[in-house]
Amino acid sequence: MRRGIAILGSTGSIGKQAIEVIGLHPDRFFVTALTAHKNADLLFEQVRALRPRLAAMTGVEGPVPIPDDLSFCEFLFGPKALEEAAREAEGEDVLAAVVGVAGLKAVMAARNAGKRVLLANKETLVAGGEMVMNACPAGTLLPVDSEHSAIFQCLQGAGPNQYEQILLTASGGPFRTWNKERIQTATVQQALGHPTWSMGAKITIDSASMFNKALEIIEAKWLFNARPEQIQVVVHPQSIVHSAVKFRDGAVIAQLGVPDMKLPILYAMTYPERLETGSKPLDLFEIGQLTFEKPDPEKFPALRMAYEALKAGGAACCVLNAANEEACYAFLRGEIPFGRIPQIVEAALQKHGALPAKNLDDIDRADALARETARAMLE
Ligand code: NAD
Ligand code: MG
Repeated sequence: MRRGIAILGSTGSIGKQAIEVIGLHPDRFFVTALTAHKNADLLFEQVRALRPRLAAMTGVEGPVPIPDDLSFCEFLFGPKALEEAAREAEGEDVLAAVVGVAGLKAVMAARNAGKRVLLANKETLVAGGEMVMNACPAGTLLPVDSEHSAIFQCLQGAGPNQYEQILLTASGGPFRTWNKERIQTATVQQALGHPTWSMGAKITIDSASMFNKALEIIEAKWLFNARPEQIQVVVHPQSIVHSAVKFRDGAVIAQLGVPDMKLPILYAMTYPERLETGSKPLDLFEIGQLTFEKPDPEKFPALRMAYEALKAGGAACCVLNAANEEACYAFLRGEIPFGRIPQIVEAALQKHGALPAKNLDDIDRADALARETARAMLE
C-alpha cells in the first residue's frame, strides 16, 4: 500500500530532501499536494515530476499563469492556500516543512482533517505548544527535527515516564569558538556559514544565535512531555550524536549518524520501519573523535530565554518565537547587528511574557504584539 503525503514547503531545504527520499521509494509513497511560497518555477517542475492533484503558492495573491501541461493539477493561491492544501489533500500524511509560525494554522487544519503530521516546522509547536498537543493524540505528530527524531528513536520500547533526562545536542554553530564581543558584530555571511548542516536561511541564522536550540528545548518539552529541567543542551561540534536520553537506571541511549536530514525525514514517514535513505553511511573510524561541551550562557543568552519562557507559560514561547522571527529577518536584511537579536527577543518577553495561549486567536494576538514590539526596536 502506498501512503499519500502532502508536502507543505516543498521548495525548501526539507521539502526538497523529502522529495529525494520519496524518489527512492516510489512503491511506498505518492505525493498528494505541494506548496511553495513564491518559487513558481521550481513548484511547476516538482508538480510535473510528482503529479500531485493539488498545489499551492502561498506568497502570491492572484493566480499566476500555469503551464498547459500541468492542467491535471489544481492550483491555489494566497496565505490561506496553505491551510486549504493541508486539509484538502488526499492521503494520510502532511509533512509540515514551511518555515516560521506561518505553518501553525495548516498543522491545525491537517489535524482537524484527521491527517498525521510529520513536523519539521518547529515554530508551530513553539508558538502553539499546548493547543497543538491537545490536537495531536499519540502517533499523530511525528518529529522530523533531527534531535527530536533521535530522542524519539531512543525512546522506542521504553514505557511512559521511564527517562530522566534528555540530552539535546547542538553543534554550537559558526560562533562556538568566538568571544562575546566578536559575536555581536558578526556579518550575515559569517552567520550563514554553518559548520555541519546545510539548511534554509532562517534556521541557519537561528543556529548561529542558538535560538534554534532555544526553539528545540521548547519543542522537546511538548513532544516528550518533559519538564524543562529534564532537558540539558550538550554542545557537540561534530553533529554525529543527534541527541540522547538518560534513563532511570543510568543507561544513556543515543542515536548517531552523519548530519543528513534524509534519515529523520524518512523515519517519520515510515516509522516504525526503516528504509534506505541513500545517505553516506556513518564511519566511526573516519570521524575518530566525538567531543562534548557545556553551552556558554554568556555568549548565547537564547537558551536561558527558552527556560524562562517555559517557566512563564501561556504565550511566552509564542512571543519568543515571533520576536525572534522578526529579529532574524531584520538581521538577514542587514538592518540590525547580530548582537541585537537576543536583545529584541528579551525585550518582547519582558513586555508580553504572560498572555494567554489557549486557542488560535490568543496565539495570533500574542504573536502580533511581540512582532510590534520587535519592529519598534528595529528603528
Ligand atoms: P527553507 O527556507 O529552505 O524552506 C521553507 C519552505 O517554506 C519553502 O518551500 C518556502 O517556499 C516555504 N515558505 C516560506 N515562507 C512561507 C510562508 N510564509 N508561508 C508558507 N510557506 C512559506 O526552510 P527549511 O530549512 O527547509 O526549514 C523548514 C522548517 O524545517 C523550519 O521550521 C526549520 O526550522 C525546520 N527544520 C529544518 C531543518 C533543515 O535541515 N533545513 C532541520 C530541522 C528543522
Ligand atoms: Mg534540529
